[in-house]
Amino acid sequence: MEKSTLDKGNLYRLPWSMNDNPIGWVEVTDICNIHCDGCYRLVMGGGHKPLQQIKEEILFIKKWRNCDGISLAGGEPVLHPQIYEIIQFITDNGMKSMMLTNGYALNEEKLVNLKKAGLTGLSFHIDSTQTRPEFKKEKIEHEEQLNDLRLKFAKLVKKSGDFYTHFGMTVHRNNLEEVPDFIRWAIDNVDYVNGISLITFRGLPDLNGLEYCTDKGENVSFNTSSLGYAISAETMKDVANVPSQEVYAVLKKHFPGYEATSYLGGTVDHTSFKWLIGNLITDNKGHIFGAYGKKTIEWAQVMHHLFYSKYLVYPRMKMGKRIFIMSILDKQVRKAFKNYLLYCLANPVRFFHPVKAIGLGVIQGPDLLADGSVDMCDDCPDMCVHEGKLVNSCRLDECRKFGSMLHVHVNKDSAKEILARHHNHDN
Ligand code: SF4
Repeated sequence: MEKSTLDKGNLYRLPWSMNDNPIGWVEVTDICNIHCDGCYRLVMGGGHKPLQQIKEEILFIKKWRNCDGISLAGGEPVLHPQIYEIIQFITDNGMKSMMLTNGYALNEEKLVNLKKAGLTGLSFHIDSTQTRPEFKKEKIEHEEQLNDLRLKFAKLVKKSGDFYTHFGMTVHRNNLEEVPDFIRWAIDNVDYVNGISLITFRGLPDLNGLEYCTDKGENVSFNTSSLGYAISAETMKDVANVPSQEVYAVLKKHFPGYEATSYLGGTVDHTSFKWLIGNLITDNKGHIFGAYGKKTIEWAQVMHHLFYSKYLVYPRMKMGKRIFIMSILDKQVRKAFKNYLLYCLANPVRFFHPVKAIGLGVIQGPDLLADGSVDMCDDCPDMCVHEGKLVNSCRLDECRKFGSMLHVHVNKDSAKEILARHHNHDN
């Protein structure tokens, strides 16, 4: 593994907490129209959630989380027959809404109606782990084969309204080296793409030597079909658990101007980077000037809280060249501004090119540690409501199926060794 130079002292720890967090998570349906390997949701026959229940969850989250935006997830949220009313309800309650979608059921008419209801943005999941009708018989072996499809959706969104447009990719050992191509694609299409998330593949392993039980201490029989995110020992060994530091190292190698600004750590492991956020500053010709620094993010979070009493996610305002004002406070932006001036002085026509920003987030989900504890995202932003309580959405299916999140007992040294090997990525 390449060593990264990430240092928490150089990053801003996002100020989010359980009760003051800009994001809340609401799943509106169990139903989906495609298949993704390792999908976090089992189809449990819940179908579309009733509108009244969804409204109650939104109000619960608003009350207990002080959210700036609600992430609408599923299943495929656009399939919910009352999706416009749901979004309108969020808008009427003074919050933004971000829809997580595979895009397959979207068209221009739906997008226009979503915009009318107040939808803020769309986060597309289109990657090589999916089985989609658009692929027809084409075998998807590389992420770049999907770029035309991604761009088709990005252009459709742009044509239909001014949305925040985001793309996600699940990163595993076999596609890590393709991450730079994906980022390059996004930079080259920055007129259409506002942000990228790289979600590092995780799962609960079915490992000889592990025993799972509920909160009540009842043992559960566990295998790879127990949960959408149950994985085999082979998958754990060969594919899963790329740490965010390794993704960071790949990004730094291919985009030297990139830098991370802020993070969320782990609930157990003080060394982990569970959310690692950065923003590249580019023009619309794909030239990278540099990146935001931690002071810009700190300023944005603090000022938003001061004026709107909540932290910020999915900014509506496009900064353009105004970002360079942050040079006063932020040495990273100052460096980018200097690069921008040198670039434009070499050819003054470039002063007329728009300046853009693109968000780059790396998310490292739960890690099962060698002692059986689970390292979650500290102050998890993606919490949802389950039976009157807030739970991490990545582990919701354990609660739905077994009545609580599962506890793990490591009862064989061989399992301990395997877990330790996967965890000690940066030591
Ligand atoms: S703990 Fe799970 S649900 Fe929460 S942010 Fe991390 S991956 Fe997402």
